[in-house]
Amino acid sequence: MQDGPHPSREDSLAQQAPQVDQARPRPEPEIAVRLEGVAKRFGDVAAVEHVDLEIRQGEFFSLLGPSGSGKTTCLRMIAGFEAPTEGRIWLGGQDVTRLAPYERDVNTVFQDYALFPHMTVAENVEYGLRVKRVPREDRVNRAAEALRMVRLEGFDQRKPAQLSGGQRQRVALARALVNRPKVLLLDEPLGALDLKLRQAMQIELKEIQQEVGLTFVYVTHDQEEALTMSDRIAVMNLGRIEQVGTPAGVYEQPATSFVAGFVGVSNVLSGDAAKAVTGSAQAFTVRPEKIRMVEPETAAGPNECTATGHVREVVYLGAHTRYVVSLDSGGELVVVQQNLATSSMEALQVRGRAVRLVWDRQLNRAVEEGSDAGIDEEGGST
Ligand code: ATP
Repeated sequence: MQDGPHPSREDSLAQQAPQVDQARPRPEPEIAVRLEGVAKRFGDVAAVEHVDLEIRQGEFFSLLGPSGSGKTTCLRMIAGFEAPTEGRIWLGGQDVTRLAPYERDVNTVFQDYALFPHMTVAENVEYGLRVKRVPREDRVNRAAEALRMVRLEGFDQRKPAQLSGGQRQRVALARALVNRPKVLLLDEPLGALDLKLRQAMQIELKEIQQEVGLTFVYVTHDQEEALTMSDRIAVMNLGRIEQVGTPAGVYEQPATSFVAGFVGVSNVLSGDAAKAVTGSAQAFTVRPEKIRMVEPETAAGPNECTATGHVREVVYLGAHTRYVVSLDSGGELVVVQQNLATSSMEALQVRGRAVRLVWDRQLNRAVEEGSDAGIDEEGGST
């Protein structure tokens, strides 16, 4: 679990974690959430398998993975809605494994934010405090403060039906913030919003999190969302954590072929296809924007890798174009080029052409080839 330049499988994979030791010293106070050897089975289904994780105080931490990879189950175990089959969960210095949800200093924001339609925004935000019998004046002040945090001052007397989707989601956030939890758990909270609003809310959520200084644990299947907001990301696949790192760490130095493919475009060459390029059959990945596409007769430099092939597919995407190149020595690589001076016509005319690909040898990342079964159509965009 480190972000160093050469992540080894041992460092980055949770399955290498030590066994739970009852006599171990308590976690450091700056660790907000700790999962130790946590597993969850539902009958025959292993939803989560031996996860070890440390989330730091004040961190925006995302659990990223395809549908069914175990993200929500991890979040629900931190919240206390599910009990782990194995392992322990710590919040701050406290072992909360056996505590009920209401005994844990966490709050959860769901995608389906279910505001009370007959109550005003202020009443919705205050509701939890009313249940806890917090005095009225305190309640009103805290609700106003929470609404200020989510930039909804002046909306307190509106009903949910008089708000936009993004505003409703912010009310849901205020309803969680008003309890001043140590840790806020968010389960795809922006999933119901359209793309533009989601992107705007991603920036806002990150700003709010930095302002309030809370620890956010955020579940998403959207790699762009995770890269935009997170301080660190755990990439999950088939109930396990494949890699933990900063956004740049998991993108630039993916530890496995699954991470390479899920956080970006796969671009993995292995076996003979890898050997033809690097001289070694070790699987490696190179990010598509690092590759230059030039005329076949162009010479490559001494520190560069090169491969010839034919452009099989061209996808024009406005700001940039994605080229899929079938290599003469086997395998395929995707190349992304900015359309600095290229029109869509020019880009599309490249289809079928013989080309040479060239990139700096240092940009190759050796990856472990694991199971990519968890990748679905939601993962792996540019
Ligand atoms: P999504 O993005 O679709 O919500 P996820 O990564 O959050 O997916 P989980 O909801 O944690 O995945 O589910 C992990 C696995 O556990 C899935 O195979 C799911 O079908 C299974 N699972 C989850 N909850 C239950 C349950 N209550 N009973 C049986 N199986 C379950």
